[in-house]
Amino acid sequence: MSIQYSSGSTHSLVEGCLTNKPDPVFAAHRANAEIFARRHGTVIGTGGVAAVSIRLDHNPDAIPGAVANAHRDFGIPATLALYSRQREVSTSEHSMPWADIQQDLCFELGMEPASHSATHDPRTNLAGFVDEIQTSLIELKAQLPGCAVEMWTQPGITDANGQKGYGGFYVRDRREFTELPAGRLVLEDYAASSSYGDLGSGYWELDGRPSVGLGHITIEKMTYTEAKAKITQAQSNGVGVNLMLHPDNVGKGGDYMSASDYRLLLQFIAQERDAGRLMPLTMSGMALADKSSTHRLDVVTNGDFSAVGTGFTGWTHSGSWSLQGSSPNNLSNTPSTTVEGDWIRQAVTVPAENAGAVYELSVDLWWYTNVGGADGEARIKLRDNGSVLDKTITIPTRQAAPTRHVSTHVIDRNNRVISLWVYKNVSGGRLFADNVKWRAV
Ligand SMILES: [Zn+2]
Repeated sequence: MSIQYSSGSTHSLVEGCLTNKPDPVFAAHRANAEIFARRHGTVIGTGGVAAVSIRLDHNPDAIPGAVANAHRDFGIPATLALYSRQREVSTSEHSMPWADIQQDLCFELGMEPASHSATHDPRTNLAGFVDEIQTSLIELKAQLPGCAVEMWTQPGITDANGQKGYGGFYVRDRREFTELPAGRLVLEDYAASSSYGDLGSGYWELDGRPSVGLGHITIEKMTYTEAKAKITQAQSNGVGVNLMLHPDNVGKGGDYMSASDYRLLLQFIAQERDAGRLMPLTMSGMALADKSSTHRLDVVTNGDFSAVGTGFTGWTHSGSWSLQGSSPNNLSNTPSTTVEGDWIRQAVTVPAENAGAVYELSVDLWWYTNVGGADGEARIKLRDNGSVLDKTITIPTRQAAPTRHVSTHVIDRNNRVISLWVYKNVSGGRLFADNVKWRAV
């Protein structure tokens, strides 16, 4: 979706909003926003709960290790602000090949890519703005073909004249989207966007409309306690909060947040999520989040095993699994499933319009033996042509209550048929599984 611009002119772009003619920029934005909303399930209902999203600005080389481990261990998604020519601009921070960014960070960890320009350099004319804002999107889509790229994340830049952003477009005011050429380029090609400025002070309304231009709170020089306070503020106000950091600054020393504090922060987010008091989302998800709704796209069929009939509808399973509960066919109970051998499995074909986005897989598991002994093991596996997830979970014996196990993934646009498996790895005792959900975040 594009329109032609006369080269060198900064006026043709604003003419559309100064006349009564239909504005092709708004028409293109509306079409992109519709596709964007459908991809993530139309809205992401938080049911009145606050939300948090984490933005990691470039330097993907710094993510494997402490940052990746914290996201993996607690199942917290993130948004990657990537610039499409970052490997050419700075190899030292960007040696990770695009194929590895897609597989290791997007598919396996649930980090969504967003455009953060082409070169991260200031530009002063329309051709430069088109290159940074629109060509970067074309390049990122080609470099990350399994992922949806639909969000603009403004870089923090200042041009030679001391002017911030692209020709003054820095999103300190939403009118920049209609009145400045660079803003109109963003609006034309991106369903959702985020500023580098402080519009909204980093807090986002959860009103279900694809949001444009809201800002973030930079947490990289905060302690755990200070960053946590930004989240509890969002919880008090019933809004979303977007937290930004450069991953190479985590644990760098000096004033920067330590790796242990970052881990504590994600642990806090996971605890609040599991208690039903906070929804960790991608920035795309938070841009669509609606606190007045409870609707969320879930690609698992019958994840609570309470379908009328067998309770196993949608699943195949080994003979050692059986439904629990006094009346498994009764929708009012919450039957669980127990295994004394191997697996339950569901093949999911994700609709094309929903693929490329980040999803959160959550499974409640618990283990029971009446004789104590060694801790049990369960294994959760998502399998496609490259194994996206193969996670072995150690579960203490004689657990009385389920523990929620959460991980996040991008579902590959080019490989939408995925098998979800839950295994029991050791003999003896019972493994219970319930509430399998694989939802848009
Ligand atoms: Zn940046």
